Amino acid sequence: MTDTALSGDTAITRPTIKGHIRENTFAGILSFMRRRYTKDLTGVDVVVSGVPLDLATTNRPGARLGPAGIRAASVDLNWEIYPWGFGPCDRLGVIDYGDCVFDPHRPDTIHDSIVAHARTILASGATMLTLGGDHYITYPLLRAHAEKYGKPLSMIHFDAHSDTWPDDDDKSLNHGTMFYKAVREGLIDPKSSAQIGIRTWNGDYLGVNVFGADWVHEHGPAATVAKVLDIVGDRPVYLTFDIDCLDPAFAPGTGTPVSGGLSAAQAYAILRRLVPVRIIGMDVVEVAPAYDHAEITSLAGAQIAAEMLCLLGAQRGSVPPDLPSNDRGSP
Ligand code: MN
Ligand code: MN
Repeated sequence: MTDTALSGDTAITRPTIKGHIRENTFAGILSFMRRRYTKDLTGVDVVVSGVPLDLATTNRPGARLGPAGIRAASVDLNWEIYPWGFGPCDRLGVIDYGDCVFDPHRPDTIHDSIVAHARTILASGATMLTLGGDHYITYPLLRAHAEKYGKPLSMIHFDAHSDTWPDDDDKSLNHGTMFYKAVREGLIDPKSSAQIGIRTWNGDYLGVNVFGADWVHEHGPAATVAKVLDIVGDRPVYLTFDIDCLDPAFAPGTGTPVSGGLSAAQAYAILRRLVPVRIIGMDVVEVAPAYDHAEITSLAGAQIAAEMLCLLGAQRGSVPPDLPSNDRGSP
């Protein structure tokens, strides 16, 4: 569904929340994939919103500008997506809700502000696709999702880091410890969760199934997904993608880059095979545009977000026969 007439500022002028409208990619209001920029949740399937937090970073800050960078890079994805063969916004009502509002000068209030932001959206029945922000944001997002979908949730987690380092301070803002807290609180079931792309040592992965970057390089995306599908089964899954899962060659614009990571193509080959997964929430985090080169990290973040939308879109319609999700499980 594409209008042939060229329009402008379709983030506020588009007549419907579905479909694609032609707009110059270099102009206009930078909503995610040119979706309507609105707080109206009527009839919405997926809510894209930003959580521009980077106070929990341990190395370089800058992920507060991630949502803006991803939105800018996403405007050229307002179309049918290769290799899916459909536009996810033809199948799903998707809006850009804007950003979570929190007070950066009152750090103790930030966790609750993000939970409240998510509760409001989830109460409408829509699925969240959240743009970070550093990875800490996934902790309050998990809290809100567990309230709605029940705990423990399963998690598929792309990252160079396990983010399960010990931390018994409930109030600390730390993007390397929130999954330690989430596992201890029973928000996440480690046995039915998987981490992909890990390449930093942690003496205790808390029982999460870890697929290190070296394992993925040796065995490939299809074998990785075959194991991940067995692990999560038909349980509700939260899907979180820390952009530093990608090698710094593909994603230099991030706070804690680690060499030896996945290529963008490897990551997409894994994501595209996750059609059978019961996804209840999604995020893309840790894009820090100030360290980016030629916007390649923002572009990867936008592409990952678009692939996530295509996963939900594929669950609502046919999947192209040549898509790798149809041969999932083959080594
Ligand atoms: Mn992380
Ligand atoms: Mn990381």
